[in-house]
Order: sequence, then C-alpha cells, then structure tokens
Amino acid sequence: MENRRPLIAGNWKMFKTCPEAVETAKQLAQLVDKNTVDVMIAPQFTALVPVSDVIKGSCILLGAQNLFYESEGAYTGEISPSMLVSAGCRYVIIGHSERRQYFGENDGTVNKKIRAAIKNDLIPILCVGESEKERESKETFNVLDRQITIGLKGFSLDDLDTLVVAYEPIWAIGTGKTATKEQAQEVHQFIRSIIEKIFGNNLAKSIRILYGGSVKPDNIKELMKMPDVDGALVGGASLDAQTFSKITNFQG
Ligand code: PEP
Repeated sequence: MENRRPLIAGNWKMFKTCPEAVETAKQLAQLVDKNTVDVMIAPQFTALVPVSDVIKGSCILLGAQNLFYESEGAYTGEISPSMLVSAGCRYVIIGHSERRQYFGENDGTVNKKIRAAIKNDLIPILCVGESEKERESKETFNVLDRQITIGLKGFSLDDLDTLVVAYEPIWAIGTGKTATKEQAQEVHQFIRSIIEKIFGNNLAKSIRILYGGSVKPDNIKELMKMPDVDGALVGGASLDAQTFSKITNFQG
C-alpha cells in the first residue's frame, strides 16, 4: 500500500434503536485502538445525534448511510447533506447496492449525491459492485467501469481529493461468501486503473479503495495484506462492538 491510511467503516443498516446504537457506540469507543486506522460508523438517521455525542473525543468518526442531493425543500422523508453535517457526520455512504436494488438509485442519482456530499464537505464513500450473474457472465469489469465513469462524471480533481470507493460484490454482501483476497485485489487494481485513466496518477495513487462483503475478524488481516485494499466497509460484523473492534484493530 502507498501512503494511504486504512479506513474501517461500519454500516449498521436498518438495525438498532437509539438506545441500542448508543450502547454499541459507547462500547466501541472503549475498544477501538487509537491512531492506527480511521474508523467510521454509520447508524440509522435517528441515532446520529446521540451517537455523535457518545463518540465525541474518541477516534471514531460518524457517517450516514445515504443523503438526498437537494439542500432543502418539499422532499418528504429525505435528508439533506447539511442536516447530516449538523448531526455530526463526516462521511456518507452513497450508492450502496441495497439502495440501488430497493430504492431505485442508479449511476445518475449517485453522481448527484456525490456532488451534494462534496459541496457540503462530507466525505463520500461511493459503493460499486457486480451481481453474481454479472460476474458469471464476465461482466464485472464493464459494470464497474460504468458505475465509476458515470458516478464520477463531471468532477474535477480537487472535488475528489477525499473520495473513498468501496468495492462490494453483491454476491458477497450478507451471504457469508467473501471474495478471495486475490479476487478483491484484481478488482481493486482495476478500479484504480479506471481512476487513473480518468483523473490521472496522483488521484489513483491516493484514493482509498475499501472492500466490502462478509468481512469478519478472521479474514480482515489477509484482505488488508493486498496492495490495493485500503480498508473495509463492514455490515453484519459491525453491529457487535467486540467483533467490530477486532476488525478495526486488525494491526494489533
Ligand atoms: C455491506 O452491506 O456494506 C456489507 C458489506 O455487508 P456484510 O458485511 O454484512 O456483507
């Protein structure tokens, strides 16, 4: 790995009430080793403010699982970037496969959401990944090329200096099937090459590319040994503080 600081991010999805989220965050703040990697957790929206209070002063940063690209208005049920910032968020996950699958998100809306995040100084985590069918029909690289090219269309180099990309093969999310470290490395290298083709070598070298898909305490070390894997986006295994801290503390 170049000089890229690892990021381990926990996506709590639609799990945990406010008190449950606060309790897990409290435990995590005690368990996560300081200053070895960046750590982020993304609870559901109503838990953002109380969790933000609990992790203040710890090394854990707050993220959201989604945003809407307008700054305010008659958009019932949506949440704006500035609302997330005011709740204490530093990161936002954009284009998660569950958003694409169940809520109609596509590369065009993802592009708008990334723009809105950047405008509000939120660090976007752009999620990309192929389905099992696409992998089987050898479409993986085409799918990723499309998701990244359209997702990042129209941005300048300066816009993207904090961007994080998460490679999440859909067939590995919540299934217990992890991509092998070689499969992850192959795709991460490909993603870096697309970034290089569009934005040049400097961004390609500095951008962090996370792997997501059934990451657990027992596979994180191997994945992190790969030269183009700069961290992980963790779903199920981020819900328990003991388990997630074993992932965040993989260097220990
Ligand atoms: C995710 O949803 O981003 C994810 C990677 O989930 P899991 O770790 O449970 O596979």
